[in-house]
Amino acid sequence: MSNFAERIKPHAVITPYPLQGHINPLLKLAKLLHLRGFHITFVNTEYNHKRLLKSRGPKAFDGFTDFTFETIPDGLTPIEGDGDVSQDIISLSDSIRKNFYHPFCELLARLKDSSNDGHIPPVSCLVSDIGLTFTIQAAEEHGLPSVLFSSASACSLLSALHFRTLIDKGVIPLKDESYLTNGYLDTKVDWIPGLGNFRLKDLPDFIRTTDPNDIMIKFIIEAADRVHEANSIVFNTSDELENDVINALSIKIPSIYAIGPLTSFLNQSPQNNLASIGSNLWKEDMKCLEWLESKEQGSVVYVNFGSITVMTPDQLLEFAWGLANSKKPFLWIIRPDLVIGGSVILSSDFVNETSDRGVIASWCPQEKVLNHPSVGGFLTHCGWNSTMESICAGVPMLCWPFFAEQPTNCRYICNEWEIGAEIDTNVKREEVEKLINELMVGDKGKKMRQKAMELKKKAEEDTRPGGCSYVNLEKVIKEVLLKQN
Ligand code: UDP
Repeated sequence: MSNFAERIKPHAVITPYPLQGHINPLLKLAKLLHLRGFHITFVNTEYNHKRLLKSRGPKAFDGFTDFTFETIPDGLTPIEGDGDVSQDIISLSDSIRKNFYHPFCELLARLKDSSNDGHIPPVSCLVSDIGLTFTIQAAEEHGLPSVLFSSASACSLLSALHFRTLIDKGVIPLKDESYLTNGYLDTKVDWIPGLGNFRLKDLPDFIRTTDPNDIMIKFIIEAADRVHEANSIVFNTSDELENDVINALSIKIPSIYAIGPLTSFLNQSPQNNLASIGSNLWKEDMKCLEWLESKEQGSVVYVNFGSITVMTPDQLLEFAWGLANSKKPFLWIIRPDLVIGGSVILSSDFVNETSDRGVIASWCPQEKVLNHPSVGGFLTHCGWNSTMESICAGVPMLCWPFFAEQPTNCRYICNEWEIGAEIDTNVKREEVEKLINELMVGDKGKKMRQKAMELKKKAEEDTRPGGCSYVNLEKVIKEVLLKQN
């Protein structure tokens, strides 16, 4: 790649699906491509960019000449208030199908004008979230190579590719609500190659619908039908982590590249001036890192349910008392919009009981927290980024999957990799207390921690020069992104 500098730089337009869990990994990939000589245009929605400026500071994205940010509108009615909340994923998915294509093409036209004026190199490729399949058409119209990026597991795409068959087989929509609780979801799915011993409940939870016109099912089927048109698909996973699934997917879609975990990849890459560019939409509370400093090695339970999960006040209380009764130190991130129906009220009994060993914050620099030596376990909703970040830190997990592909990730964490244990959907404080103790000081936790450390090492090998993910990133750059049409 060393001769890039002498030529015009390749220019990648990188567009995440507009949610936190998609922006983060695509920003990492953008940085990796930048390190390999690409000029980057990173495209956020106006809503998210405004939030980024608020959380990171008004000048946080200024002054990077070959790494620039652009915005497009999201087509949704503006949210009232301070706008510090996750947007509704169903409305967002619907709006993407209806409203994103034209502003995106207008952006490409603007970038073309800028390059004609000599301000930036001409756009040479598109890297877009797998949920933004309209970019395939845009790439074709502009004669550009394009790559779709999945911020979820390869397993979730494999599942999504079979949603149409699930409809044909009469599995979805469910006949009625009773099918959610009558044991039906325990039915084995033995007809999807690559998914050994999966049950219906291990598939992305979008299948748990009784609505024949379910918007998410439509969105997923439409996206799954179109992914075959993409030049290639890139995953934030490794050939090692999801071996059977990658093999099964490669038969269906020949051009797939596992280039993760991106966290490990970036950690092992030389840092440049882009290291300061962050993508958290909420302001990070840095004080929790100071607090972690005061705790013993491996003693703290870190609790975080990501950017979208919501729970009832009763569920929050069960977690609270499970944590309190476990007697273990904890760092608990409670997002302002985590609890359904408004603000969080934890009783003075809980506060008195835990004030000497528990800290609550509303958002944190998660990767720094997970890599802090004091953290010994992670109670998580099993978002794919959190899963990968926990593996890259060698931290075992307690899993409370909330929605989307999180049950699938949970299956991997607990059964395939054996680095975690699952908490029942109907969470109870006694179970939380028991599992925390097992995780932090029990034999099971010890084994899980050992395995998590092994996976961390594997992830490092995979993303180091010569490792499978490293080689795959070189390949996708050479075989797709730099290919002249
Ligand atoms: N995250 C963070 N601080 C927090 C909560 C989350 O930095 O307090 C980051 C986390 O590191 C991850 C992303 O937000 O990169 C959440 O993505 P994930 O796929 O785990 O879950 P989602 O939010 O999509 O449900």
